[in-house]
Amino acid sequence: MSLQGKNALVTGGSRGIGRAICLELARQGANVAVNYAGNAKAAEETVKALGAQAVAIQADVADAAACEAMVKEVISTFGSLQILVNNAGITRDNLALSISEADFDAVIDTNLKGTFHCMRAAIRPMMKKRRGRIISISSVVGLMGNAGQINYAASKAGVIGMTKSLAREVASRHITVNAVAPGFIKTDMTAVLSDSVKEGILHGIPLGELGEAEDVANAVLYLASDEASFLNGVNLPIDGGVTCY
Ligand code: NAP
Repeated sequence: MSLQGKNALVTGGSRGIGRAICLELARQGANVAVNYAGNAKAAEETVKALGAQAVAIQADVADAAACEAMVKEVISTFGSLQILVNNAGITRDNLALSISEADFDAVIDTNLKGTFHCMRAAIRPMMKKRRGRIISISSVVGLMGNAGQINYAASKAGVIGMTKSLAREVASRHITVNAVAPGFIKTDMTAVLSDSVKEGILHGIPLGELGEAEDVANAVLYLASDEASFLNGVNLPIDGGVTCY
């Protein structure tokens, strides 16, 4: 699954799952633009670790103009863009009765609209080249729901719907649009959960273990590769069997 000569943009590539995706794409030969929101130090560390041609780009994916500018910067740096990975995401958990409108909106703006902004910015140059791979990180929570995550579940279910819609719109230009739905993966995002919550999650995983960021990165690599050319509009769970039914 060589990505030699391909150029990729990974949103939220500075840490966690995004960082593992950057490393995997670079390992297979891709040039990688590492997007981040505010953590410049983490982004620079990721860029240094990549070895391939790499660049860090600060942009808030909730800002449509910033996403347009980011895609332009990737193309002016690398010459073209073949792979977009929409990974940037946040949580602001609370029960439906208690959640503030600001926390609801923040998660929708980053996870759902952020994915849309980057999709829209990337498809025009990809359509011109008649080739592209768009992979978005959804979540099992978008499939199953989760108490205390009404905003996050809505954002991730929306990412799955957008993936299937865009896949139908741009398939004739040889652009595939897919998603992966991680279960519980060990990153900063999940480190804040209490041991009892983690223990409860572990009991619900048929494989009996928590996932690693690399498990997600390996699936993204496949979807980004030429080998996945006939795979379009899927949402692939990477969850140890949580959603098998
Ligand atoms: P993480 O460790 O918290 O890292 C989040 C990344 O997103 C960071 O690189 C952060 O940049 C970036 N980011 C956040 N808001 C942004 C914004 N507005 N604009 C640009 N970048 C932004 O999270 P993670 O666990 O790796 O999660 C990555 C993705 O996988 C998310 O979409 C998440 O919803 C999804 N996911 C995670 C799990 C899990 O169990 N961990 C499960 C299912 C799905 P800075 O470094 O600058 O802050």
